[in-house]
Amino acid sequence: MIEQIKEPYLLTPGPLTTSHATKATMLRDWGSWDDDFNSVTADIRTQLLAMAEAASDEYACVPMQGSGTFAVESALACATDPSGKVLVLMNGAYGKRAAQLLDMMGRRYVTLDKGDYLPPQPQEVAALLRQDSEITAVFLVHCETSSGILNPLDVIAEVVSAHGKTLIVDAMSSFGGIPISLAKTPIDVLISSANKCIEGVPGFGFVIIRQTLLAAGKGRAHSLSLDLHAQWDYMERTGQWRFTPPTHTVVAFQAALVQHREEGGVPGRCARYTRNRDALVKGMRALGFSTLLEDEWLSPIITTFLSPTDPAFEFDTFYAALKMRGFLIYPGKLTEVESFRIGCIGQLGITVIALLLSAIREALADMDVSLTADPRSA
Ligand SMILES: *Cc1c(COP(=O)(O)O)cnc(C)c1O
Repeated sequence: MIEQIKEPYLLTPGPLTTSHATKATMLRDWGSWDDDFNSVTADIRTQLLAMAEAASDEYACVPMQGSGTFAVESALACATDPSGKVLVLMNGAYGKRAAQLLDMMGRRYVTLDKGDYLPPQPQEVAALLRQDSEITAVFLVHCETSSGILNPLDVIAEVVSAHGKTLIVDAMSSFGGIPISLAKTPIDVLISSANKCIEGVPGFGFVIIRQTLLAAGKGRAHSLSLDLHAQWDYMERTGQWRFTPPTHTVVAFQAALVQHREEGGVPGRCARYTRNRDALVKGMRALGFSTLLEDEWLSPIITTFLSPTDPAFEFDTFYAALKMRGFLIYPGKLTEVESFRIGCIGQLGITVIALLLSAIREALADMDVSLTADPRSA
């Protein structure tokens, strides 16, 4: 093993392993009011609209300081009518968090809770929209990172649009890694962040929002700093962020966008993540692990594996054994069963996945856990 690699690989869904080129751009300081920095902000806003295939006369891209949740919070506050009602589709932690945010803002909502790992079905959504005419907007998490399930965005978007409702999509862990086209799919609000599939470092999120909705959101915010309309308005007038921007993160993000384009844009990145996922799932099944989800619902972003029932398997020991070998994995986030998660995103390919699988084999041997291969790995 080459000694220079001291940093572990992050097999996590963001923050994730970034490239040296991205990290290197952070070695200088920028004035947040200066034209050089403002042109970086303007450039990333334009590039994000293009990546979403969102017409620039119909949509606006508004970056927001903070982690992804800050962007979700600002988007919900702006895009949901205080006199309306939101249908929150949930099958994991991030759907639940949206409901918690709406609670906090005093916005009304109903939920369709599918538990830990089942996708919402378009006919269920249609039935709820028919039953309750007070619903004005629907919230969907595209890739629910808590299980790794890829929810059926296109068919749900069709249903929501056919009922004339607003669709708000948390595409935090999918945008940039899984194709999403606002030209083809009727989505009104799309939220993501710097440190997931675009492979930047953490520090801001962004909201791609229909301009008419943004205009209607003026004065709706429950928070001074998370006022999406005010952020947009200030940025349009001055070219600057309304409060101190994460300057280093923003320039690193611009570098990450260059690499994203060089890799072939969203299709190129999706292909690499899919290869990672396929190698990971096949290798893990061969070692005797099972995935939580059926193949049909496995995203190329992150995969949940069930913890082996062998009492010798202990997650903390397993985690430490992998960390010692240079890999950080992710604990599970399910309510019903013991599990752990392994991400497929970030600056890594199947060579790293192969090294990870060897490390996992060694970790199992360390713990004296013996498993039998899943027949699907053959
Ligand atoms: C990462 C993520 C978020 C945001 O989480 P933060 O910790 O606030 O960055 C929101 N939704 C989904 C689906 C995510 O994967």
